[in-house]
Amino acid sequence: MNYDLNGIGMTSQRTRDRLIQRLRDEGIHDEDVLEVMRQTPRHIFVDEALASRSYEDTALPIGHGQTISQPYIVARMTELLLANGPLKRVLEVGTGSGYQTAILAPFVEQIFTVERIAPLLEQAKQKHRALGLTNIRYLLSDGSWGWPRHAPFDAIIATAAPEEIPVELPQQLVDGGRLIIPHGTNTQQRLSVVERDGESLNQTDLDMVSFVPLVREK
Ligand code: SAH
Repeated sequence: MNYDLNGIGMTSQRTRDRLIQRLRDEGIHDEDVLEVMRQTPRHIFVDEALASRSYEDTALPIGHGQTISQPYIVARMTELLLANGPLKRVLEVGTGSGYQTAILAPFVEQIFTVERIAPLLEQAKQKHRALGLTNIRYLLSDGSWGWPRHAPFDAIIATAAPEEIPVELPQQLVDGGRLIIPHGTNTQQRLSVVERDGESLNQTDLDMVSFVPLVREK
């Protein structure tokens, strides 16, 4: 599969640059994150019919009832994840389109990403390959269990919202590691950071957000 990585018209570099300026205006400070987002073609992660909207600051459908996250949220979560310095091993729960994975990949040694819908995982892999990203490992599974075989992780990011934070996830963090996760009901969710400090967990509640639900396999 060949992708138009450069883009034209509504997917051109000028359109992308406008989005980056908007994210800056909305309070994203990490210029390294903004630069990776400026360079990463979000339009290849959405359906061709929606490509012209791919540099709007909005979530878009990616099929199977799922969405690609809003750019502001991707920037915000990436910034939060990297706030304590560089990370070696990161677990992502909810690969979806693979866009958030692609934004994180340049900042970490290895990303372990888990998705429960096979075609989404397959498409994400193809796109990462097209972008030359080679530090991503994939698992088709219920990510509420984390990925115990590769634990512990320096950080975990969840891009689907459980009603309550699964206990398995913070257990797979290194001491001092952080989990960024939205949680709550369909109508009201909160983005939280959970930091592991020895045997205790410190939770900081941040913005109100809107994510698709984290589906637990029975
Ligand atoms: N970061 C992604 C967001 C995708 S939406 C992007 O930018 O495209 C969240 C994804 O989480 C969906 O693809 C959904 O299928 C997946 N998901 C939901 N519950 C899950 C679970 N228990 N385990 C793994 N993935 C899950």
